[in-house]
Amino acid sequence: KPAARNEPQVSAGESKRIGVLTSGGDSQGMNAAVRAVVRMAIVRGCKPYLIYEGYQGLVSGGDKIRSASWNDVSNFLTLGGTLIGTARCMDFLKPEGRRIAVHNLIKHGIDTLVVIGGDGSLTGADTLRHEWPDHVKQLHDDGKISQQEADKYRNLMIVGMVGSIDNDLASTDMTIGASSALTRICESVDSILSTATSHRRAFVVEVMGRHCGWLAMNAAICTGADYLFIPEDPPAGDWETDMCEALKRTRSAGKRTSIVIVAEGAIDDKCNPIKSEFIKDVLTQRLGYDTRVTILGHVQRGGSPTAVDRYLATLQGAEAIEAILRATPDTPSPVIGILENKITTQPLKEAIALTKQVAKAIQDHDFQRAAELRPRSFLTQLETFREIDYYSPEGKDSLPADKRLRIGVIHVGAPAGGMNTATRSVVRLCVNRGHIALGIHNGFPGLMRGEIEVLDWLSVDSWTATGGSKLGTNRDQPDPQLGAIAYQLQRFEIEALIIIGGFEGFTGLLSLTKHRNEYPAFNIPMVLIPATISNNVPGTEFSLGSDTAVNVITNACDAIKLSASSNRKRVFMIEVQGGHSGYLATFGGLAGGATTIYIPEEGITLDRLNSDISHLREYYQRESGYSQGRVVLINEKASSFYSTDIVAKIYEAESGGFYACRSSNLGHLQQGGVPSPTDRVRANTLAVSTVNWIQDQCWKGMEIPYEGNLRLPSTELKRKYRGRVYVPSSRASTVIGILGSQIKFTPIEDLVSETDFKKRKPTKHWWYTARRLVDIVSGVGFDMATG
Ligand code: ATP
Repeated sequence: KPAARNEPQVSAGESKRIGVLTSGGDSQGMNAAVRAVVRMAIVRGCKPYLIYEGYQGLVSGGDKIRSASWNDVSNFLTLGGTLIGTARCMDFLKPEGRRIAVHNLIKHGIDTLVVIGGDGSLTGADTLRHEWPDHVKQLHDDGKISQQEADKYRNLMIVGMVGSIDNDLASTDMTIGASSALTRICESVDSILSTATSHRRAFVVEVMGRHCGWLAMNAAICTGADYLFIPEDPPAGDWETDMCEALKRTRSAGKRTSIVIVAEGAIDDKCNPIKSEFIKDVLTQRLGYDTRVTILGHVQRGGSPTAVDRYLATLQGAEAIEAILRATPDTPSPVIGILENKITTQPLKEAIALTKQVAKAIQDHDFQRAAELRPRSFLTQLETFREIDYYSPEGKDSLPADKRLRIGVIHVGAPAGGMNTATRSVVRLCVNRGHIALGIHNGFPGLMRGEIEVLDWLSVDSWTATGGSKLGTNRDQPDPQLGAIAYQLQRFEIEALIIIGGFEGFTGLLSLTKHRNEYPAFNIPMVLIPATISNNVPGTEFSLGSDTAVNVITNACDAIKLSASSNRKRVFMIEVQGGHSGYLATFGGLAGGATTIYIPEEGITLDRLNSDISHLREYYQRESGYSQGRVVLINEKASSFYSTDIVAKIYEAESGGFYACRSSNLGHLQQGGVPSPTDRVRANTLAVSTVNWIQDQCWKGMEIPYEGNLRLPSTELKRKYRGRVYVPSSRASTVIGILGSQIKFTPIEDLVSETDFKKRKPTKHWWYTARRLVDIVSGVGFDMATG
């Protein structure tokens, strides 16, 4: 258990001068990365410099290289694009241009660079580092720098951060900007869908991605598109006919629209480009569909960054400074990434070489290798899309009759973004494979009453982007009515149960598991797909809905801060949900730029309030001519003594007249709304894995001694047995979890010892390591005036 909040550590030992620049195509979150680099550098005792206009700024020098203060990066977090500018610099491609850059850097005393950009920019940075000693020698020989400077600036240190909307760098699961670009695409396609439905139109939507289909593929998954073209998976042969047949099938199932997503670099298996206009012509001529093309273009690069991009950039920016301080002249240039949900530092050269291999594999027509070189999840996601959104009418892809199952889906607990998306995917898979998907309405009470209906392919069509719970959900537990529940499971011949829910889903599943011996109907595979904004389900690092809620909090922080603009000095105390888990406050705080947060893991003490209030008083006193709203996030259960109102009143009472404090509660806003693309992607992935796992378990459960017309488990159980599937092991009750980039099923009984039932959360919090950054990048506990 974390004992107390970690105060930011100020290191005065280093006096490194660190330049930071953004280069190549811009991407949302680059500003957040620059902010984190600058602030972390100051906190760690270094001197940051902003380099304007990418490498052009290095070559031009002068006022393009400016020392940066804490406040120079205020307001950077929320803005898209790059505020320090970017450029494609031809001069830097030549050694002479790079020599000028070296000269300019030395003149400013900078021998460390953080470069935020794509693979071209990072290649350039690595080249500069290798050439640096030669340039230094030449500059000295030419009398441009002194011997002392030549000795002092013998080496250049480079750290790369990947800013790219394409998510195209091998060796990182996510690049800065990809999440925001995906969000922009999904917002656009969600909007297109309503007009397309009205007119029964087909839309061909072209998205960015010259060599990488990540954006297109994830957009197709998130929006429930009908067909997809990406460079890594070019269609072979007569793809026009295949596409038309696939679209005709979905229309025959009752869909009123057809959406085709095309990556701008889409090609066929002969590497001929597949163009949106050509697809449109095929659909118009062969199917007679009223077809429109929408090229999303630069919309995808725009807008405010998502929560993921903001906290990813912040965590990576902080790590970039740590990597600099750890490095020696022999350390290979690192690139900061994220793998398996952990911030990583890897050799930059290898990462770029691997990335280049993808383009080469595509050029060589080795498409399988191209896809394999992408992060592990890439191929799985591609399969996921095909399975869920291509419609296979009964008889085509479905399983033999004796392998078809009846699978129940139930929502339990409070609504969370992605519950409907996951349900849709389960239903679609079931229909395509020949299973029956049974929707259980209104949670466990609905199950007890038998409120169950078969869900078909079309009935769930719009569920991917719908918030709330379409099946109906509540927090009631199965315990009082276990007999009635067993009866309904038996009556509807439910052979596997999928519970989509939060901690109540967890305790509900545990309860059914404990009573397996009493009720034979409970001896079926059961899976909990964690879905709760609080992200407090044991067995997973992320539950569905948590990303949507963090985005709601982030957007609220942006809006509330703006309300304090003009001349108001206000601190806003915003209460967020999360139960006894501080996850939402922590990641909402990181992404929303909160000054500090109060979470149950730390509690609230008067000492802590005193120190935070002193910080704010000093801040507003010092910044007298400068007005900006500050946000403090407080979890609903941060303290059993100090409520949000009390904390807000203490803040105001002790303000010394330097600021006012207002409180607000985001409440149920956090549970509703359109699920974020991240939650939609996770929902799809979890649903596919769940159905696959259930099939395996059920089919194994059928491999039992055969007696007469029934497959019976054994004579002694014959009396009790009621159906085909009989899985008496309690280990068939599992929680599916996202652990790093792995999907894992953990028997619920193994999670009991890792669960704090009183506080309704896991005993360990993987995310707590990110908590201290909230205060570091906001300046709490650090003297910004002297920084
Ligand atoms: P995007 O993903 O948007 O294409 P990128 O960083 O790959 O981003 P590039 O246009 O390839 O974008 O590179 C940006 C700048 O980096 C170039 O204009 C050039 O100044 C520099 N650069 C790129 N490749 C090299 C190289 N091989 N050597 C030196 N500098 C390079």
